[in-house]
Amino acid sequence: MPDYDVVVIGGGIGGLSAAALCQKAGMKTLVLEQSNRIGGCCSTYEAEGFHFDVGASVVEVTRAFDELFKRLEMPRERYIPLIPVDPIYDYCDNTRGVRFAYPTSVEDTARVIAEFSPEDAKAFLKFAEDYTPKIKGLVDNFFYAPSLGFMDTVRLIAKYPQMVSVLPMFVTTHQKIVARYFKNADVLASMAFQSFYAGLPPDMCAGLYAIVGLLEHEGIYYPEGGMIRIPAGIRQAFEDLGGETRFDARVVRVMVEGRRAVGVELWDGTQITARNVVGAINAKKLYEDMIGREHIPWHVWRGVRSLVLSMPCPMIYLGIDYEPPLNAHHTLTLTDPRIMNDYWSDYYLKGKLYVKDGRVEVMGLISWASKIDPSLAPPGKHVLTHMGLAPYNLAGNDWDRYKERYIDEAIATIERYIIPDLSKHVVYRDMATPKDLERMLLHPGGAVYGIQTDLSHMAVFRPANRSKCIKNLYLAGASTHPGGGVPAVVAGGIITGGLVVKDNA
Ligand SMILES: Cc1cc2nc3c(=O)[nH]c(=O)nc-3n(C[C@H](O)[C@H](O)[C@H](O)COP(=O)(O)OP(=O)(O)OC[C@H]3O[C@@H](n4cnc5c(N)ncnc54)[C@H](O)[C@@H]3O)c2cc1C
Repeated sequence: MPDYDVVVIGGGIGGLSAAALCQKAGMKTLVLEQSNRIGGCCSTYEAEGFHFDVGASVVEVTRAFDELFKRLEMPRERYIPLIPVDPIYDYCDNTRGVRFAYPTSVEDTARVIAEFSPEDAKAFLKFAEDYTPKIKGLVDNFFYAPSLGFMDTVRLIAKYPQMVSVLPMFVTTHQKIVARYFKNADVLASMAFQSFYAGLPPDMCAGLYAIVGLLEHEGIYYPEGGMIRIPAGIRQAFEDLGGETRFDARVVRVMVEGRRAVGVELWDGTQITARNVVGAINAKKLYEDMIGREHIPWHVWRGVRSLVLSMPCPMIYLGIDYEPPLNAHHTLTLTDPRIMNDYWSDYYLKGKLYVKDGRVEVMGLISWASKIDPSLAPPGKHVLTHMGLAPYNLAGNDWDRYKERYIDEAIATIERYIIPDLSKHVVYRDMATPKDLERMLLHPGGAVYGIQTDLSHMAVFRPANRSKCIKNLYLAGASTHPGGGVPAVVAGGIITGGLVVKDNA
């Protein structure tokens, strides 16, 4: 008799969502988390009274959470209270005197753009008119449907015929879609940077991601108490249903007998048997390191070996002693698509940091979480996190050695473009380099979204939610369908949990 019906490897959003649905269906479920904290890259840590989000800093498409809690028959609001964030983000470049913030309302955003580019304001309304109707159908159908093979795509189109009008978005790039509408360089930049939410520059990212710039206008949200509230809420629901979570439980091997997963082995040699195993960690690592070549047919092995990891994303955590002169929860730095595209080919792929006028400049996004939730910092103080872009391997250098200098360079960039006196107000500073994220979360290559999200790694080309070569093995999390980002990962957890329950009915 196996110890559990379901063992889930990884206590991130994906694993927890799948686990909660299995437990709800009456399956005895255990979540194993290697660290001592829930949530993986959607989490929050405390240092010197400041509470910093480890990675993710905001969510959109809260329908995914509502859908999960609807299936659990539990009130989402009680488990995950979400605060609306408005404006969505501020775009700021003090060197050119450019600054504007986009409110949630589409019409108000068009009014903001009209103040400096009436032509782009009209284009924004047309962009919203063209794509908003597609978004709801796409998100409500594609997000929650398995993509195990081409027949699933056929079934999806049969159920949602409008999907045909969305398909061209899969075969074009984000850049091409937004460039059709916007002419002003700053507006274009503000509509193109979202490609990095998929971990790619705009001219490599699937066109599908162009809808993110509009999805944000459905509302973006921050959970009370920090991003950790999301996984903590799902874990609470899972445990209220009778599920079990174990911390400091690193899985080193999936036990396989005759191409069937039968349990897992932990770092200390403990073996836990289970009817089903859900790997809610990086899919490449799961197949390559935990299952091993001997259990995998050669053609699947070749596919696994060819998977490209998504980019890493260094995080800087700053505690400051005053209210910063920012206008929004998120503020963008240096997101001109020309810079982002060139950065990829001329710097990122060569292991270099972006250099302008002889000095390193750190592009990315500042998040000011204590604006929304002051309890995240001591009275009168605030927390800022900076999510940047940089390679995993630094040419001629090493992240552990370079870390402090990188923080200085990031602060100097922010001072130049957004907050002139920032360095005088920093009372706490730390950073998670790509290597740190790899060590902390066991993310190979520090990969933010598991597997890259270009066309060759989407839908049927992404590692499937139900393994095609090992029976009773399932995948959840950012590296399986539909991909990374907190809501997408919750949706993927719903798909995976649903498959486990259906296959065991
Ligand atoms: C810097 C950064 C910023 C982001 N910003 C946003 C944002 O603003 N909005 C948004 O929606 N999304 C954002 N994302 C993406 C989003 O956070 C992720 O896609 C999502 O949280 C991934 O969830 P997951 O469950 O797939 O994996 P993870 O969060 O990686 O969780 C996996 C868990 O498995 C554990 N684990 C790993 N190996 C083992 C093992 N061998 N045994 C046991 N446990 C193991 C890890 O410790 C971890 O807790 C961001 C991500 C990062 C890194």
